[in-house]
Amino acid sequence: MFRFTAVQPTLEDYWRSIILFGKNSASYKFALGKALLELPPAHSEIITLDELAEPFAQHICSHLKLADKQGTAPSSQFLEACRTFNRGELTKEELLASTVRLGFGDVIDAFHVTGDPDAVRFYADERSGRKTQLRLTDEFFRLSKQNAAESLSSELEARWRLVETAWELTLPQHVIEYDSEAEQLTVKLEDTHGRRPVTNCRDALNGYQKGKCFYCFTAIVAGTSLGDPVEVDHFFPHRLKPHGLGAPIDGIWNLVLSCQQCNRGPGGKFDQVPGLRLVERLHTRNSFLIESHHPLRQTLMLQLGTSETSRGQFLQAAYDRAKKLLVHEWLPASEDDRAF
Ligand SMILES: [Zn+2]
Repeated sequence: MFRFTAVQPTLEDYWRSIILFGKNSASYKFALGKALLELPPAHSEIITLDELAEPFAQHICSHLKLADKQGTAPSSQFLEACRTFNRGELTKEELLASTVRLGFGDVIDAFHVTGDPDAVRFYADERSGRKTQLRLTDEFFRLSKQNAAESLSSELEARWRLVETAWELTLPQHVIEYDSEAEQLTVKLEDTHGRRPVTNCRDALNGYQKGKCFYCFTAIVAGTSLGDPVEVDHFFPHRLKPHGLGAPIDGIWNLVLSCQQCNRGPGGKFDQVPGLRLVERLHTRNSFLIESHHPLRQTLMLQLGTSETSRGQFLQAAYDRAKKLLVHEWLPASEDDRAF
């Protein structure tokens, strides 16, 4: 099998591994991550739970309005308090008191849980006796100084939308596809034939690509002046849509983020078929999303197959068919250091 190349993880990699690639039983981790990312860079090392309670509860309350299911447990006292607040039947002070008492129970311990003992930690838990505080680490401040907070926050939001949508709609009976006009991932509702937006597609894909072009690894960080603008690209060209590749051409399996140059610059891909090493790279990406319990794993398995071999065979068949129809093969003129 095509092997993933090991690279030294950065602080952003560690943050993403916490937010994007863990298993989720409730969305509290997202709310805590968001509240931390929003802290001003000059914040003191100590943050009390009283102080965290407001942004934390606010994020949960606003997501409850988007999707009522914010966890897999049948009931939660804390979520019930947030719902009551949303109905206007609880004051803000009461909500914050409930948040300090009930909201942080498991999430502070669970946030950093990983099999890697050397993994970076973004805070130390200093709760003991009457002390209810966290101590933010140097790594946290270095991360937030890198100007990464904004794009990490958008990725976190996209992941949260996918997770809560997966819970709410119990995928895989529904298929998430890309609406190229709206640049949204949308869910096709089979019963009504309607479509419903889930999240911004770029943010959802960027967690894996780490701000790099899928084809040439050039920096394409959204929202900064660095690098090229980001484009959502159909790996197998969209013009193959009427010919059928065995799965929807707009499915997440076939979408990557690309720099403008690779997509449609001089020497760009346009309607050519990506070369075999890029097909292998897509195969690795799709398998990675499945193995890392990405919310779209059910959709991917439904479309491509449950085993690595069957997904490989699927991509080989899609490549064969695309090659037969479009004939020309494309590879980027040069590649930066491999990033994933
Ligand atoms: Zn590129």
